[in-house]
Amino acid sequence: MKLDIVLGSELMPLYEKVVRGERLSAADGMLLYQTPNLSGVGYLANLVRERWHDNRAFYVRNQHINYTNICNKFCKFCSFYAKKGGPKPYTLSLEEVRQRLRAYRHVPITEVHMVGGVNPRIPYDYYLDLIRTAREERPGVHVKAFTAVEWEEISRISKKPLNEVLQDMKAAGLGSVPGGGIEVLSDRAHAELFPKKINGARWIEIARDIAQAGLKQYATLLYGMGETLEERVDHFVQLRELQDETGHFLAMTPLAFHPEGTELPDRPHTSGEEDLRNIAVSRLMLDNFPHIKSFWIMNTTAITQVALWYGADDVDGTIHEYEIIYQDDAPGVKQQVITRKQLIRLIQEAGRDPVERDSLYQIVPPREEPETEKPLRQPLLLPMSKV
Ligand code: SF4
Repeated sequence: MKLDIVLGSELMPLYEKVVRGERLSAADGMLLYQTPNLSGVGYLANLVRERWHDNRAFYVRNQHINYTNICNKFCKFCSFYAKKGGPKPYTLSLEEVRQRLRAYRHVPITEVHMVGGVNPRIPYDYYLDLIRTAREERPGVHVKAFTAVEWEEISRISKKPLNEVLQDMKAAGLGSVPGGGIEVLSDRAHAELFPKKINGARWIEIARDIAQAGLKQYATLLYGMGETLEERVDHFVQLRELQDETGHFLAMTPLAFHPEGTELPDRPHTSGEEDLRNIAVSRLMLDNFPHIKSFWIMNTTAITQVALWYGADDVDGTIHEYEIIYQDDAPGVKQQVITRKQLIRLIQEAGRDPVERDSLYQIVPPREEPETEKPLRQPLLLPMSKV
């Protein structure tokens, strides 16, 4: 894309701000969402993306474990939790977790990513043991675990303040905290779409505790579930202010809402245009977030290739294992895998330079190894808010 795409257009003042490295306002954010000039928005986002990362595009080799799908929060946008006519309930035993980790022992992953529903019957020690099990089975691996809503529950069940709980978990081997736990920082959306979950104010308090514990965290935005454009922009502004204060966020992942299996089945799927725009607006508004992720399973590999020119610098990982929507035979496991070679090719075909990273975005030195992962078949849907 060339400068012509914004010259003389309504985006020109934003171009000048971007070139000067000036922060964009909430009004600028609204213009980015409302202008028909998506290519212009992408051009601006790409300027910022290349300033941060040049031509590099990052990926990670990881394994996901969703330890339970029992949840007492009943978020309307969620297809993941066990419900009548939907996924059957399960909670993995520690031995089952161990088996899943062993199943990928031959793959040199650097990260185990563990999240689940809010199951009030799970005792405190189970959470500690989940982390210890991952560290025992995969020595040296980075454990990224539990979204903010899970941290609230873990603290409740432990009868300890969250800062003490975080120290216990760090001692067990916790490395960082994933995004999720809030879909958009809006009291209106909270009341309408996920009222039983923690609200935005509590999410921010938890994020501060995570930062004070010396842990890095990720952030997400779930879009397309009924939030307004103003709420999305305000979400970015609140996250940006929090990051000014804590500096502990590593990446933003905009996640598209998928209506299947949720209480919002009539909401339309997001379009490719929306997926690219949310990536680009994230990049432009979150000027203090180092990384913007286009999660290939959620966005498809095709959109992700384009997204690497619309602000994204990360495509996430190689291995995913999920309990996904509408399993007829409980608790069926669907595997979603893209091999490292496929991921590298995806990035190279898009004209970017692939770089393997670990969970903290440290570069993993290249290594020769046989291609032993199973190939990608087709993208499947993921549970919302679980990145
Ligand atoms: Fe539970 Fe999380 Fe789904 Fe909400 S999004 S219902 S907290 S699993």
